[in-house]
Amino acid sequence: MYDENNIFAKILRKEIPCDKVHEDEFSLFFNDINPQAKIHVLAIPKFPCTTFSDFLKNVDNENIASFFNSVQFVINKLGVESKGYRLITNSGENGGQEVPHFHIHILAGEKIGRLR
Ligand code: AMP
Repeated sequence: MYDENNIFAKILRKEIPCDKVHEDEFSLFFNDINPQAKIHVLAIPKFPCTTFSDFLKNVDNENIASFFNSVQFVINKLGVESKGYRLITNSGENGGQEVPHFHIHILAGEKIGRLR
């Protein structure tokens, strides 16, 4: 069940500000408030979905493709394609998800270490 009061829902409703990197019809990108790399951007779709699986299940294929194309657009905009980057999506308790609105972390700008 989607929590309309999660912080990213509030950012999408513009109740809370964000450091915006890019916005289009179906997605919003902003800098993470607690960056884990020189570049740490969060990508969120403008659909009420909690996890990656929820996003795939409840959003139509055209909009799913549009979101992932926007992720690539921002990767190009950030200028990190040639040196590389890491995409992460945390899901649920074991995945360490804190904000229950599906999002992708784009980490770049330096060599991202191994998780373990
Ligand atoms: P996750 O653990 O995958 O749910 O990641 C949530 C991310 O959201 C963390 O990296 C937080 O630093 C980030 N975060 C939380 N609140 C904000 C905010 N108001 N603006 C930007 N990033 C945020």
